[in-house]
Amino acid sequence: MSQSSTALQADQFSEQDYLLRVDNLQVHFPVRDGIFIQKTIGHVKAVDGVSFQIKRGETLGLVGESGCGKTTIGRCLLNLQAPTSGRVNFEGYDINNLKPEEMIDCRRKVQAVFQDPFSSLNPRMSVGDIIAEPLIIHEKGMRFIDRARRVGELLSTCGLPVNLADRYPHEMSGGQRQRVGIARALALRPEFIVCDEAVSALDVSIQAQIIRLLEDLREEFGLTYLFIGHDLSVVRHLCHRVAVMYLGKIVEIGECDDIFKDPKHPYTKALLTAVPIPDPEIEQGRSHTYLGGEVPSPINPPSGCVFHPRCSMAVDSCKTQIPESRDLPGGRIVACPLS
Ligand code: SF4
Repeated sequence: MSQSSTALQADQFSEQDYLLRVDNLQVHFPVRDGIFIQKTIGHVKAVDGVSFQIKRGETLGLVGESGCGKTTIGRCLLNLQAPTSGRVNFEGYDINNLKPEEMIDCRRKVQAVFQDPFSSLNPRMSVGDIIAEPLIIHEKGMRFIDRARRVGELLSTCGLPVNLADRYPHEMSGGQRQRVGIARALALRPEFIVCDEAVSALDVSIQAQIIRLLEDLREEFGLTYLFIGHDLSVVRHLCHRVAVMYLGKIVEIGECDDIFKDPKHPYTKALLTAVPIPDPEIEQGRSHTYLGGEVPSPINPPSGCVFHPRCSMAVDSCKTQIPESRDLPGGRIVACPLS
């Protein structure tokens, strides 16, 4: 993202409005080869110069095809992945260079809800123990009775009966397990939650219930979310702003309504073409941009604009020139000079 883009976004809010700020984040994984002596033969550029901010109380959607770097960004924000370069600033903390005492504070404030609740919950622990675990680690002085009361509160907040505390994950449905995952994430009263494909593994009707729960919790506790997903209808419903990623880069970011009504980047247009509109008249009059080919390898990305081999608008200069991000009205940023 260009310097001007970052500056423009920063000017829209005062510094304390931001909960999180990501500056020029890069995560490159070395690719090694050789039987006896392993040599680095290249790098997978999973995240390649990504910048964005998230305002307090806001939900930012992060979308793009599989392997575009969304989950790697989420892992950097959770301090589960060290960046190659760049910085993640959360409430003034440099999240990937925390002192031990800062680490404890950040762990409480930043939590995650993952895609597969079955594999993210310990099958040997009861639901009550799963939800109580963060309290045992972080609230060492908490009395057993208070902890049990808090577990009960969290179960009710997440729409589960309190007597479920004695059950085990395998005795519950997928939707109930995801509610347990959310209750565990809420245990330490976090400010920011990374939802990584949090509803992708659920049936559509259960998805709707979990999305409603996430909305209610955002309202009740003033939560801020990064919502990583590939279902654009869900992202449109839940998110205030959306960032579209392609091959490790953000190609377009802006208000959800603006982007869904009038996408600018050819990749965003192609992604939105795949979202059906439940009105045959609007659907018929819609222009469609189809995506051809496969996502190129991030080990050897295309020159110039990385999207050029699949772009229906590409011109010769796209093969050699890396597009600068442009600021558009309404805080929108697009990485394509022709859009
Ligand atoms: Fe397409 Fe060229 Fe724009 Fe890239 S810079 S999105 S190839 S038109």
